[in-house]
This record gives sequence, C-alpha cells and structure tokens, in this order.
Amino acid sequence: MIFDVLTLFPEDVDRFLSGSIIGRAREKGILTVRTHNIRDFSQDKHKKVDDYPYGGGGGMVMTPQPIHDAWLHVTRDLPYKPKTIYMSPQGKVLNQDIAKELMQEEHIIILCGHYEGVDERILEEIVDEEISIGDYVLTGGELPAMVLIDCVSRMVQGVLPSEEAFSDESHFHGLLEYPQYTRPPEYLEKSVPDILLSGHHANIEKWRFEKRLERTRDRRPDLYEKYIREQKGDQK
Ligand code: SAM
Repeated sequence: MIFDVLTLFPEDVDRFLSGSIIGRAREKGILTVRTHNIRDFSQDKHKKVDDYPYGGGGGMVMTPQPIHDAWLHVTRDLPYKPKTIYMSPQGKVLNQDIAKELMQEEHIIILCGHYEGVDERILEEIVDEEISIGDYVLTGGELPAMVLIDCVSRMVQGVLPSEEAFSDESHFHGLLEYPQYTRPPEYLEKSVPDILLSGHHANIEKWRFEKRLERTRDRRPDLYEKYIREQKGDQK
C-alpha cells in the first residue's frame, strides 16, 4: 500500500513513521510512505505557502498553487487517480470501519493543512474525502495523517504477524477488548484471574467474550447498543 503525504513538515511525519511496526513494514516494502514538502513546490520567490484570508479575520490560509503542484507531482504520471484525503476537523470522524474501507485502497494521498486551513478551491479540485480524527482542533494535519496511516497500515497483510493480532483488538468487531495480564501472576496483592492460568482454551475464550461485552456495555454504551442491534439484525 502506498501513502503520499503532502505536508509542510515532512520530517515530523517521516520520523514518526520510521519506528516500530510501521517502520519495519516500510523496510520490508509492504508499505510505502513518501512525504512531499509543499513548500518545495511554491512558485513564490520567497517560497511562501500562505496568505491573508479574503474577507479579513485572523490567521493565514494555505495558498492553492503549491498544494496543486505537489499533488500533480504525485499524480501526473499515474494511470489511475489515487484517493486524496484532506485531514480536517470538518471531515467524517475516523473509526475502525472507515479505516477498513481505506485499507482496500492501493494508493492514498493525504493533504495536511496548517494555519487557518487551505484555500477551498484546491480542496474542491483534488480532495475526495475529508477525515477528522476527533471533534477538536489541532495545529496541523500531520498528527492526524500519522494516526490515519498507522491505523490503516496495521491491518495491511504482513504488517502484523497475523490477522488475529488486529482482529482481536478493540473496535474491530464492534466491541472493546478483554483485560490483558502478563507475568508475574501476583502483583500488589492482585492475582491474575484463575481462568487464564487454567489452560482450558474454550473457557478462556468464553471468559474473554463475556469481559468484552461487559466492558463495552460499561465503558461505551453507544458501541454496545450498536453491537447488540447488529447481532439481532444478523439473526433475522
Ligand atoms: N480553521 C479550521 C477550522 O476551523 O475548521 C481549522 C484549521 S487547523 C488550525 C489547521 C489544520 O490542522 C487543518 O487544516 C487540518 O489539516 C488539521 N486539523 C486540525 N484539527 C484536525 C482534526 N481534528 N482532524 C484532522 N485534521 C485536523
């Protein structure tokens, strides 16, 4: 899978996505993440990439030309049009279902905004979808882009050792994960639940499923109700 990230801070994106599991997947060639500095494409003699907003108001707006040229640099010679996503607090809020859909794409371009945002005309021209990582405003689209790439990439075949490594986790099947324990069996006078030490696989699976239901019901009643509704729908 390929990600091309259009950003004013390519080093930040690159540094974060060079470590750990995503970094290893990049080294193995399972993932390609390229960053493009929007400033490099500015035709302004001072390499300016922002300007005052028409109509007044505080802050600066990213100008369309450098973004357009950066996008053309990525897309110009391709025989297909990659999906282009603008990270934006005004977009659809990212969740596991959206991440699963994006995982089907072979190539995604991500535009990271900064300042007050981006000239609307370039968004209309190149962007297929706006995605937010939550209902709050950040300084730039770089953290959101990293969140999106990390969350989608870990479901790409070969990035994690097995499919269970991500399909067992919270949200994949609509529930939160069960509690996890490791050694030692006693810590601060708290014991690991006996069932997990029993070696009885079927009972452990049953216990884990009950915990998933219980946790989701207690912590995220919205998800629990959705899960129950979907289960009932499936049985009809
Ligand atoms: N003026 C914009 C508004 O009110 O909608 C916010 C601009 S924000 C300060 C600068 C950039 O950060 C945005 O262009 C976007 O790329 C990114 N950004 C901020 N919050 C985000 C969020 N919750 N999800 C995704 N991207 C976000």
